[in-house]
Amino acid sequence: MALMTAQEYIESLRKLNTRVYMFGEKIENWVDHPMIRPSINCVAMTYALAQDPQYADLMTVKSSLTGRTINRFTHLHQSTEDLMNKVKMQRLLGQKTASCFQRCVGMDAFNAVFSTTYEIDEKYGTHYHENFKKFLTFVQDNDLTVDGAMTDPKGDRSKAPSQQADPDMYVHVVERRPDGIVVCGAKCHQTGSINSHWHIFMPTISMGEADKDWAVSFACPTDAEGMYMIYGRQSCDTRKLEEDASIDVGNAKFGGQEALVVLDHVFIPNEYIFLNGEYEFAGMIVERFAGYHRQSYGGCKVGVGDVVIGAAALAAEYNGVEKASAVKDKLIEMTHLNETLFCCGIACSAQGVKTKAGNYQIDLLLANVCKQNVTRFPYEIVRLAEDIAGGLMVTMPSQKDFNSDTVVGCNGETIGEICNKFFAAREGVSTEDRQRIMRFLENMCLGAAAVGYRTESMHGAGSPQAQRIMIARQGNIQGKKQFAKDIAGIK
Ligand code: SF4
Ligand code: FE
Repeated sequence: MALMTAQEYIESLRKLNTRVYMFGEKIENWVDHPMIRPSINCVAMTYALAQDPQYADLMTVKSSLTGRTINRFTHLHQSTEDLMNKVKMQRLLGQKTASCFQRCVGMDAFNAVFSTTYEIDEKYGTHYHENFKKFLTFVQDNDLTVDGAMTDPKGDRSKAPSQQADPDMYVHVVERRPDGIVVCGAKCHQTGSINSHWHIFMPTISMGEADKDWAVSFACPTDAEGMYMIYGRQSCDTRKLEEDASIDVGNAKFGGQEALVVLDHVFIPNEYIFLNGEYEFAGMIVERFAGYHRQSYGGCKVGVGDVVIGAAALAAEYNGVEKASAVKDKLIEMTHLNETLFCCGIACSAQGVKTKAGNYQIDLLLANVCKQNVTRFPYEIVRLAEDIAGGLMVTMPSQKDFNSDTVVGCNGETIGEICNKFFAAREGVSTEDRQRIMRFLENMCLGAAAVGYRTESMHGAGSPQAQRIMIARQGNIQGKKQFAKDIAGIK
């Protein structure tokens, strides 16, 4: 099958029997649900741009497995150039959606599981790598969206998986059969779960011998028997359910999506298992997946940052202050911060190395530095955007008020006329355009989209402390001490 179009992707979701719950109820037509649909549109953009000849070099690539043309989101990176193109593709998607487009978690899982399964097989003579290559060929040929699921609920953080009072706090094997395994557990705040055709599950921490049953990785279809999702809500999300509120929503077209994914005795056939008890490799999958996803943030968040900076510049223009030197300087600072993140994403890619399995991996130290900066800079960019926009982004009346015919003024003025009079922008700019940019900034800075731009920048791909642990491990302080000793003449 060739590359899917955006519409084919959306239609393909309808064919799945995915079980989605929201507000305590099962959602039957979740594809058209107004709170879910923007996140589907966002993934659909990864298909739409792949059809556009001007983005062919970024969005499509020749498969290393089959030689066929595939979407880069299903690719195994073959060079440092591929790694850099991945980051550039993510920046482009961020610019086009101003949201989390969700498909990267699968791409990052492919590359981490591909290289790790090779090394497990090398040690144990298992067949996980062959299983994985077969699975990925199927994914590439059908242009599927696959979710990479890592974050377990974790229960008591001071205890290992095998020590938890409730064994389901980490995904684990509850039964081993000749033809496969049965698994239970859950993954939390799982990006893009509902929109994906398949999932790859991976462990979330390094494990010891006692945790063997928790050291498990596998693929399963999103509508597998026993699997269901409970949709995560976002700030101001029910604005999407209101009538005549598309401006109030801010970004009505696109959005991100997170859910609690539950595995309730799901059967996994042997051919879809990529790790099953080889506990010492759990940490390798985690480290590699996290590294790739920390690189990813040097692309996607930069693209979203581009839109935030553009919106702030428009707000200044509409208010008539774009020539003020203080405003110009704030835009320069925002650009500097955003491009610094891009530098990190490109640098960890340019310094990538070939794995034993043959695909390319980012420089882990630089990828962790990238994500550490992402936990900070978008917050400063948003602070400056709010500073430039002014308080109106959170105090403006609703779209319904702007459109209202109800008479309030002594000369018969309507609420709509009054709103349009007092919220008028500079000459030549419509009040509606000002309204749109203010609501967009509200959405990005503290509404539903802030999940993707702010809190996800903090906790997605691992919280700041997780990067600091990796930076400590990779930072080579001993080597640096030696530099100092050599020059200072210390023996
Ligand atoms: Fe992709 Fe960024 Fe969303 Fe992760 S947070 S899935 S890298 S868009
Ligand atoms: Fe993320």
